[in-house]
Amino acid sequence: MSDDVQARSSAVSEEVVEETLRHLRWLSDAGVTEVPPPALPDREALRRDASEEPAAARGAPLPVPGPGDGAPRGKGAGSPALLAVRADLGECRRCKLAAGRTTLVFGVGNPAAELMFVGEGPGADEDREGEPFVGKAGQLLTRMIVAMGFRRDEVYIANVVKCRPPGNRNPEPDEIEACEPFLRGQIAAIRPKVIVALGKFAAQTLLRDTTPITRLRGRWMTYEGVKLMPTFHPAYLLRSPDEKGKAWEDLQAVMRELGRTPGSRA
Ligand code: URA
Repeated sequence: MSDDVQARSSAVSEEVVEETLRHLRWLSDAGVTEVPPPALPDREALRRDASEEPAAARGAPLPVPGPGDGAPRGKGAGSPALLAVRADLGECRRCKLAAGRTTLVFGVGNPAAELMFVGEGPGADEDREGEPFVGKAGQLLTRMIVAMGFRRDEVYIANVVKCRPPGNRNPEPDEIEACEPFLRGQIAAIRPKVIVALGKFAAQTLLRDTTPITRLRGRWMTYEGVKLMPTFHPAYLLRSPDEKGKAWEDLQAVMRELGRTPGSRA
């Protein structure tokens, strides 16, 4: 092995070790004693995907525009209903957030997800990459999803507002009002079994309820017939790690609702 290849492979191993340690730290901070088995890839689906002729090769139009344009991405992102919401949103200039955005951040994940997470709005990393929850809070969210026994691409992740509020300030009422119909459209298109509302803005917007998140969290609610669990936002958990245990209790209730009790395979 050349020195260059060896150096790169040891850098990758270090990254894997660090990521594993971060994941274990989230679990232990949250008081987790048992971890559900990882969701294994569906071998049959992988085999089908691999043998399927690419749409372009069949002369068929590609339904999903390329990355970085805010179009829905991730596994199966081209569901017609979700694409229709995206098309309706277009190169949105409905509110003042449009002026400061680099990329409109629509959503990511499985368009037929049984579990959907809703956050507040893109931060700097998300604005740059066009994907929700990819920064530090996003990495914690991904660890939470994995701890629940899901892969990130099995769930769907979106935000209340699709453009970054300047300087990561809170989204303002007129911005939420302009963007909310598209979140509602995404939920209607995906029809998840459970929505996890991450933090005050997601919970209060969807529930039309101004009760503080500290009182909303951990209590089952209903949004348009879909069960909704409000919990703390991962960014808050990064600042207040002592609250991770409560968030994990909320997520365990979601797992039970979806038949994924810790230690059992769904
Ligand atoms: N915080 C959010 O609420 N959403 C993101 O996409 C990233 C951070």
